[in-house]
Amino acid sequence: MTRRRPGTLDTRLVHRGRGGRSVSPPVVRASTLLFDRAEDLYHPAIRSYGIHGSPAHDALLEAWSEVEDASHGVLVASGLLACTLPLLIFAEPGAHILVSDNVYGPTRRFCDRMMTRLGCAVEYFPPRIGAGVGDRIGSSTRLVFMEAPGSLTFETPDVAAITGAAQARSVATAIDNTWSAGVHFRPLDLGVDLSIQAGTKYPSGGADVLIGAVFTRSAGLHRRLTEAIAELGLHVSPDDAWLTLRGLRSMPTRLRRHEASGLEVARWLAGRPEVEAVLHPALPGHPDHEVWRRLFTGSAGVFGVALAPPAGEDEACACLNALSLFGLGFSWGGFESLAITCGPQLTRTAGPHDGAGRALLRLSIGLEDPADLIADLERGLAAMAAAPPQSAV
Ligand SMILES: *Cc1c(COP(=O)(O)O)cnc(C)c1O
Repeated sequence: MTRRRPGTLDTRLVHRGRGGRSVSPPVVRASTLLFDRAEDLYHPAIRSYGIHGSPAHDALLEAWSEVEDASHGVLVASGLLACTLPLLIFAEPGAHILVSDNVYGPTRRFCDRMMTRLGCAVEYFPPRIGAGVGDRIGSSTRLVFMEAPGSLTFETPDVAAITGAAQARSVATAIDNTWSAGVHFRPLDLGVDLSIQAGTKYPSGGADVLIGAVFTRSAGLHRRLTEAIAELGLHVSPDDAWLTLRGLRSMPTRLRRHEASGLEVARWLAGRPEVEAVLHPALPGHPDHEVWRRLFTGSAGVFGVALAPPAGEDEACACLNALSLFGLGFSWGGFESLAITCGPQLTRTAGPHDGAGRALLRLSIGLEDPADLIADLERGLAAMAAAPPQSAV
């Protein structure tokens, strides 16, 4: 796209989104914006109210759009809203929406509740459907929504094949691209219409901001997104926009460390007898490794672990309770390592997921020394083996 500036992404993210003479934009907290002349009060090109943004919002969008090579983007107040807004602009009674079965759980909840209430028919497809998704597209299909790799189980849809099938039938496509942070995968280059980022994760990077964004190269879709934002009265705080821009400056650098440490921990886990499978598409044994290699230039530091039987949910909890460096908590992409069990929040309707029937963990590998993290996990696995089977108590 023409917006590309010289230098690699590392360089562009450091230099884009400047704030005049200071290297960062000012934080302007304002509802009211004052005008010099009454004649300008309704001027379409003059920002009239705080809800329409501020210098920090503009600077963040300018820099963040570099990541996905987008000509247009919108900011919203959470990653979840960045997922639901694209669905909402395609909602109308009778609309058929195709959704990958491995999407983020709250995205699925929005589909099952709000989209259904608005009269849409939501159909889930198996993530490995590829070009076969074309067989499910009918005259009322409006959108194909993907996530690659999907939340918790990390199956990686062939985004190129799915997008090609949708384009051949003139159906729009959207993808939740949070895992790659946009650094390792640029879906707009494949013709995907809308790419979604939860900036809460790697872009802000500090586990202290909730923010999301949707990127596109379509002026028409951008207009529909901005109209929906205006109609709903959505707003992002200028402080959160500013914090995200600060995080974005160092994102590619942090991501390299998350990637390398993630792979080191994942490989170590793959060699452990307590582990049946590591759900990480960058590992050569993963079922989607070839798809991942074709589409992605690198990996994130978040992946799944299927424990070997007879370990169940109780043993998974015993393992996590014995960890001292991994925090137990939701979200990921911050500087600190996190772990959760996945079972209670997994829902699938289009077929079994990877690791089905096994206790599943999700690990987010932070910026700690990976050797320390491996030692921590070794303690966790040992505690799991030593724990009495609680179900028998
Ligand atoms: C975390 C996450 C979201 C939601 O982001 P929030 O800012 O927490 O609402 C959406 N999609 C994926 C893949 C995520 O991991």
